[in-house]
Amino acid sequence: MHPVRSGLVVDRQPNIQYHYDTDVKTANTSSLAQRDSKAATILNLEAERQASTINLIASENHASRAVLEAQGSVLTDKYAEGYPGRRYYSGCIHIDEIENLAVERARKLFKAEHANVQAHSGSQANMAAYSTLLEHGDTVMGMSLSHGGHLTHGAKVNFSGKWYNFVPYGVDRKTEMLNYDEIEKLALEHKPELIVVGASSYSRIVDFERLGHIADRAGAKLLADMAHIAGIVAAGLHPSPVRYAHVSTSTTHKTLRGPRGGLILCKREMASAIDAAVFPGIQGGPAMHAIAAKAVCFFEAMQPEFVHYQELVLENARTLASELQRQGMRIVSGGTDNHIVLVDLSPQGITGRDAEQALEATGITVNRNTIPFDPRPAPIASGIRLGTPAVTTRGFGAEEMRRVASLIIKVLSSAADKRTQEQVRLEIRDLCQQFPIPGLA
Ligand SMILES: *Cc1c(COP(=O)(O)O)cnc(C)c1O
Repeated sequence: MHPVRSGLVVDRQPNIQYHYDTDVKTANTSSLAQRDSKAATILNLEAERQASTINLIASENHASRAVLEAQGSVLTDKYAEGYPGRRYYSGCIHIDEIENLAVERARKLFKAEHANVQAHSGSQANMAAYSTLLEHGDTVMGMSLSHGGHLTHGAKVNFSGKWYNFVPYGVDRKTEMLNYDEIEKLALEHKPELIVVGASSYSRIVDFERLGHIADRAGAKLLADMAHIAGIVAAGLHPSPVRYAHVSTSTTHKTLRGPRGGLILCKREMASAIDAAVFPGIQGGPAMHAIAAKAVCFFEAMQPEFVHYQELVLENARTLASELQRQGMRIVSGGTDNHIVLVDLSPQGITGRDAEQALEATGITVNRNTIPFDPRPAPIASGIRLGTPAVTTRGFGAEEMRRVASLIIKVLSSAADKRTQEQVRLEIRDLCQQFPIPGLA
């Protein structure tokens, strides 16, 4: 959400000669490296950066080669406004098949009555859901951004905060977890049309069933935004909101490990309203290459290996949290039930921004994050958010997580010491070499 100045200096050769194939006879059939070596070089540098650094950004992951292949396919070329069987373009026979496949798999995976796979992103999934459930000016309850809620849950700079009257709820000051009694009290007081539940930096189980009851009592609808935890939900390792929420939204690129995109699940009676809200409501042509990749992602998420992967994601997060704790760090809420570990750095006297920069300089990517009741503004923040989906995909296990925890402690306790930083940097390079990224291997 906040612009980041990269602290990493990339080793770019200063005199590099770029090549461009501008011959009309071969231009359209040239490889990227032949056609536009400057763009290709940047992409290669990014692949190299990913391969040689430890990615603890909780919202990121590494998609499989199959997902990348579907995403980079000829489906990029096809216009298909509308839905399977009712398109505004001809030539959609296979496009219909692939979208139906994605929809059927999403429904099966999440036991949902209806799925819309066209939303371009998690934010657009939320926009479509709000426009189905709300009128401008309606009152909505959502988790406060500074306690872990998302931009689309009522931020003043976002459409959600501009068009709807968001009443924020937060976590309990003592437990740093959702206090359902408090949420119920607020809901009965404000009588919102909608309660939004879901977060970007909340590390505890969310009781969707309880929230369903609260929404019922308050006469509100319930929207569950499971963008972060969808993969864990799909694996059956976190309670699913789908039964309890009128609409559930998600991204497909976080724990779910698919292409960058959005997903909406809802009850049958809302299906056509949700579909109409996405197209023609807020979008034009669907990104069919992304939809093909979503179909592959849903297939992958149904495999037994995926359940095992999510078990390891959770186990790695618990190991990371307890190791950091053992070495003197304060973990918000005292631990984690999911893939996120939120670290409060105030006891160390370091800001989230400084920690993020020091870690990036040695090859560990994390993001600064406010902690509940943070006295610092979001661009500085008192915490960092860590997540295990990406490193678990690479094959990191308990031993590596303990090493990562020690490296983090080292960097943060000697942010100014260049020699320690250099040692850590080498150790990270070495560790990364042992665990190639599957999509790049
Ligand atoms: C990531 C996220 C989104 C939106 O994701 P984009 O695809 O970046 O628009 C929505 N809600 C929550 C809770 C998220 O964490």
